[in-house]
Amino acid sequence: MSSRSNAIKEENPYENAIAQLASVMQVIDVPLDYYEMLKVPKREIVVYLHLKRSDGTVSSFMGYRVQHNNARGPYKGGLRYSSLVDINEVRALAMLMTWKTALVDIPFGGAKGGINVDPSSTSGDELEVLTRKFVDEITYNIGPEIDVPAPDVGTNPQVMAWIMNEYSRLKGYNVPAVVTGKPVELGGSLGRLEATGRGVSIIAREAAKAVLKKDIKDVTVAVQGFGNVGSYTVKFLTEMGAKVVAVSDVYGGKLFKNGIDSFERLYKDYSATKSMKRLPYGEDISNEELLTMDVDMLIPAAIENQINENNANKISAEVIVEAANAPTTPMADKILEKNGIKVLPDILVNSGGVIVSYFEWVQNLEREQWTLEEVNTKLEQKLTKAFYDILQFSESKNVPYRVGALALAVERVVNAMKLLGWR
Ligand code: NAD
Repeated sequence: MSSRSNAIKEENPYENAIAQLASVMQVIDVPLDYYEMLKVPKREIVVYLHLKRSDGTVSSFMGYRVQHNNARGPYKGGLRYSSLVDINEVRALAMLMTWKTALVDIPFGGAKGGINVDPSSTSGDELEVLTRKFVDEITYNIGPEIDVPAPDVGTNPQVMAWIMNEYSRLKGYNVPAVVTGKPVELGGSLGRLEATGRGVSIIAREAAKAVLKKDIKDVTVAVQGFGNVGSYTVKFLTEMGAKVVAVSDVYGGKLFKNGIDSFERLYKDYSATKSMKRLPYGEDISNEELLTMDVDMLIPAAIENQINENNANKISAEVIVEAANAPTTPMADKILEKNGIKVLPDILVNSGGVIVSYFEWVQNLEREQWTLEEVNTKLEQKLTKAFYDILQFSESKNVPYRVGALALAVERVVNAMKLLGWR
């Protein structure tokens, strides 16, 4: 049984996003007109794309771009290539981007897009043609001052390079700032690849200090997931001196009672085995054991719905730092709150990627390239400020951090809408 089947029930993600918005409107005492405006996107673009395959047959795909809100700046959000992409998922993710950019206080709004194509059964050449056709259809709806896409599930720096090239071809000049997450050679930012994991480790360090009242060096951590986000999180946390005692991937995990002694060795060996279970050292544990083990801090960095009503009562960590998107179900959230377990929400914890995307956009507009040190220093400043803003706001309203983070973000967006005179 795959752990995706742990998902409690198939829900409409857009309805959930609206319900979440409704639940914070009371916390910030905002006129209902704004709820009415924010529960729907400003614009939805749906296009049909036809692709002549190499065997001569023609396949049709649907492409989406949903632009939720641009009161605080150009729309910003990823582009997803997956056969599961549908309009309700894109709407929900576009709304989430509006909250995320407001929460970390970068001058963007929120958008999301996608094509319902399975990249694993489509050749690179076909994906390039499809991407260029999509750009041709939405040329007037994207641009550095309009809407700036980025990679997401199923897309990568190469896809961003195709988008930049097609858009620039149509404009007649080079426009790198139309997308972020590009290869560094084409104006991508240094530090973008590891930005999300670096951000998670910064939040973990501050959570140790402000919530656990401990130095990160005295904190035991379990990390679920060892992909881009999980592996960089473990790397930076071990560099900070945290005691990372358990790590896992989809096949299972390893327990290191005294903490990982060398991240470099672990990463090198993992790159060879591609499986935690097959590592010749460490004690075997399951993902379920990792999630419920007795540590100070638990970092889910794999997939959604991992902490759910089946295991929430067994969680022993004092604080959960949500690196993955939606790793905790709403039902589990209630149980954790009742048990006094603090949760730093995904919308804050994994925002390092979008923050460095913003830095990339600024560098492109200024035709500059910042050093890695500059990028990291600015990332650190943005994230720590957002962390303490949320702590202060949540404590002043006496609400959990997840509610506080969302309420603070919505309040910022509403303030911008009021100042602009949207009604
Ligand atoms: P990834 O595909 O690189 O890695 C995912 C990891 O999770 C892998 O180690 C995989 O083995 C593991 N995994 C998959 N299914 C699992 C399961 N059922 N149980 C335990 N482990 C499982 O993905 P990523 O880019 O590291 O993203 C991880 C999470 O972070 C996702 O929720 C993603 O949406 C979110 N996120 C990523 C970024 C980013 O910049 N990459 C930014 C924001 C949010």
